[in-house]
Amino acid sequence: MTAASSATSVSLERSRVVIVGAGPAGLTVANILRAASVDCVVLETESREFIEQRPRAGFLEEWAVRALEQRGLAGRLLERAQAHSECEFRFAGERHRFPYRELSGHRHFVYPQPLLVTDLVRAYADDAGGDIRFGVRDVELDALDTDRPSVSYTDPETGTRLRIDCDAVAGCDGARGVTRTCMPPDTTIARHDYGIGWLALLAEAPPSSDCVVFGIHPRGFAAHMARSPQVTRYYLECPPGDDPENWPHERVWSELHQRLSAQGAGPLTEGRLIEKRVLDMHNYVVEPMSYGRLYLAGDAAHLAAPIAAKGMNLALHDALLLGDALAAYCSGGDDSGLSGYSASCMPRVWQDQEFSQWLSEILHGASSGDPFREGAMTARLRRILTSPTAAAAFAELFIGKHTGH
Ligand code: FAD
Repeated sequence: MTAASSATSVSLERSRVVIVGAGPAGLTVANILRAASVDCVVLETESREFIEQRPRAGFLEEWAVRALEQRGLAGRLLERAQAHSECEFRFAGERHRFPYRELSGHRHFVYPQPLLVTDLVRAYADDAGGDIRFGVRDVELDALDTDRPSVSYTDPETGTRLRIDCDAVAGCDGARGVTRTCMPPDTTIARHDYGIGWLALLAEAPPSSDCVVFGIHPRGFAAHMARSPQVTRYYLECPPGDDPENWPHERVWSELHQRLSAQGAGPLTEGRLIEKRVLDMHNYVVEPMSYGRLYLAGDAAHLAAPIAAKGMNLALHDALLLGDALAAYCSGGDDSGLSGYSASCMPRVWQDQEFSQWLSEILHGASSGDPFREGAMTARLRRILTSPTAAAAFAELFIGKHTGH
């Protein structure tokens, strides 16, 4: 936390809420505040074009889609997204379909994150005339433990330093943002490192299956996930910190073919690799998610490695709670939502963390090189594939239906 006083001249402004970061979390909070006629400003370091194209997540859980729909934010999503009802495990050369919709009543909606971000920016800035500032530099937060916190930044066009005094700051700036660093030193940050990497790939190729495919293989885990009729996401387990350059086109496709092969499985359609990056699989949870008048949401507060596709959904869960709590506070002075915000988020946050860790053992057991983990993994997989009770519990966790949504 540093004061904005280092700049030579500072222009002063006032807004009820400053939202740092225009990802799914920040933009959802912004749209809720705008709809409640609460004055707010969104600050984003990147350009609009950049955030509308940044490829990341692609699976929205049905409860999240319905919550966006209730707020009038899911029009294009519902028109364009494909719904998935099943996933498939491939293990020891066999295919096992898992019908999670039949078991839970809920589906996934395949909607690439850049499309959701595009819709949310349009709804907030173009349709509702909301204030969003792109390309900001050197964002700093100050006086968070007072009733008059402020956020300052450098305007990219003029180089002027601006300070916005406000009532509350929404820290929605993701895993590498600045707001988490403003939490006091005694904040608990719980961490888990899986000790593995995933090579995250986007291929210019149509999906090769009608559902998500998890390939559990001694050579390493692999996954197939549709993104659009033209683009498919693939993952390949690799050593943490591996260099994507170690994975030329031929090696990637050879590994995908081997790790996703199973009796009766159709061939994979290959295509140009348009994204290739190594993600080290690790999670963290900041608890509590607030300090003074700073409220963290989404990846700023907790990271869930993409093992169970929870990150974007959790970001939306936080944002829906935070948006409503800020609106109640700013419109009528009701502080109860804000004071209970962190405690309201935590059950789902930890449920998804635990589920990701649990699923990780299934996905990576066969390649762990540890016969005990492999044996336990086989038992786990057999249980969800043969016990209706275990299958129903898995389905609810997988689709995020577990906390009453
Ligand atoms: P972000 O989307 O990271 O948004 C934060 C914003 O803040 C960014 O626009 C950033 O530019 C901006 N920012 C950063 N620093 C500052 C600053 N100092 N000042 C102002 N702005 C700043 N999740 C799923 O649910 N399903 C999936 O299938 C899935 N797959 C994934 C695949 C990959 C390869 C990756 C990387 C992630 C995946 N995730 C998935 C996770 C998901 O993308 C994140 O959880 C989600 O983006 C979190 O949203 P957010 O709004 O909290 O943060």
